[in-house]
Amino acid sequence: MNDGPKYGFDTLQIHAGARPDPATGARQTPIYQSTAYVFRDAEHAAALFNLQEVGYIYSRLTNPTVAVLQERIATLEGGVGGVCCSSGHAAQIMALFPLMAPGLNVVVSTRLYGGTVTQFSQTIKRFGWEATFVDFDDLDAVKAAIDENTRAVFCESIANPGGYITDLDAIAAIADAAEIPLIVDNTSATPYLCRPIEHGATLVVHSTTKYLTGNGTVTGGCVVDSGKFDWSANDKFPSLSAPEQAYHGLKFHETFGPLAFTFHGIAIGLRDLGMTMNPQAAHYTLMGTETLSLRMDRHVENAVKIANWLEADDRVDYVTYAGLESSPYFDRVAKICPRGAGGLFTFAVKGGYDACVKLVNALEIFSHVANLGDARSLIIHSASTTHRQLTVEQQRAAGAAPEVVRVSIGTEDADDLIADLDQALSKAVS
Ligand SMILES: *Cc1c(COP(=O)(O)O)cnc(C)c1O
Repeated sequence: MNDGPKYGFDTLQIHAGARPDPATGARQTPIYQSTAYVFRDAEHAAALFNLQEVGYIYSRLTNPTVAVLQERIATLEGGVGGVCCSSGHAAQIMALFPLMAPGLNVVVSTRLYGGTVTQFSQTIKRFGWEATFVDFDDLDAVKAAIDENTRAVFCESIANPGGYITDLDAIAAIADAAEIPLIVDNTSATPYLCRPIEHGATLVVHSTTKYLTGNGTVTGGCVVDSGKFDWSANDKFPSLSAPEQAYHGLKFHETFGPLAFTFHGIAIGLRDLGMTMNPQAAHYTLMGTETLSLRMDRHVENAVKIANWLEADDRVDYVTYAGLESSPYFDRVAKICPRGAGGLFTFAVKGGYDACVKLVNALEIFSHVANLGDARSLIIHSASTTHRQLTVEQQRAAGAAPEVVRVSIGTEDADDLIADLDQALSKAVS
């Protein structure tokens, strides 16, 4: 069942991509714990290897459990296809890989997950790729940063560590005018709160490690393609428009049309980079997606209550949650993520770095971990952990200043979470 427009989100998050198991009738998607799949005969094998027929060959490329998750996430995002991979960071490389080559660049927002800032500012240089960091509220600066070697624009919908929402429509218009794709990391929002493709995104990437799984069990990622980009409009994207030597001169865009990016992701990306999601991980994430909307509604409800309580507290300097009326991004919530600004935000503790460290040590329900999007409430002092590789200027630009902690508000009782914050703030701020 993948009948996107016919069914509502709550139905699709349970059913999209899944069918009763053809061999046994099993209602829940089985974990197909198999590396390889028997070919019907030699012709069948040849057709699969020539990409003339879709099927299962080897689990580095495709696996029936992972395939259900791919179809489910693609459906929830309103895309035509998805490729799951081993982590969110793998998904980012998988999204860029068909677009980039040595000497080419991607224009990216300064407001990104700390690990993504490191991946883009340091590691991708080893491939000869460059990232140009720009404040995405300065639309002229975004336009100016795009040059003839730019092959994509990259941002997060609701940016980690929280409080910032990107004006996706405005950024998509700039990418469109430059004839390059907009890639949106929709991890913090999830397709329940934000659907980037409806705002002009070409590709959506996820760390499924977070809200999509929702219980902190497995890492994973996904790249979803809108199917709307014309890869053959010019010669900027030869991986998709030009003959592919590894498949006897096949042209992905000409052959697969709107599914070109997805087929390339499997047939070249997973085949040769090998960042494959395993079927166990896909199973846990499928379980998670079944309750996504129920959890996100509670994350948002709790986050609004707690952010308001913190904002009114004397021991707190400021709270950056786009769901607060005081937020400069409050107006973007209705436009970009109308069901709420998510469960992730930061707040500044009076007493700075030292008070933040005391706070994380004193909390009882909140866990001090480098994760987010769990049913459990989580806290991290980004400046001493996830963002510690960055300079203080980069930390501030990313919303992770030394006096700030990031919370991922869980689905517990909001009153219990407030009481926990209250007792810990008393110990942290004297
Ligand atoms: C966690 C995260 C990532 C990286 O995902 P992994 O699964 O940890 O590799 C990327 N983007 C955002 C917004 C994240 O929160």
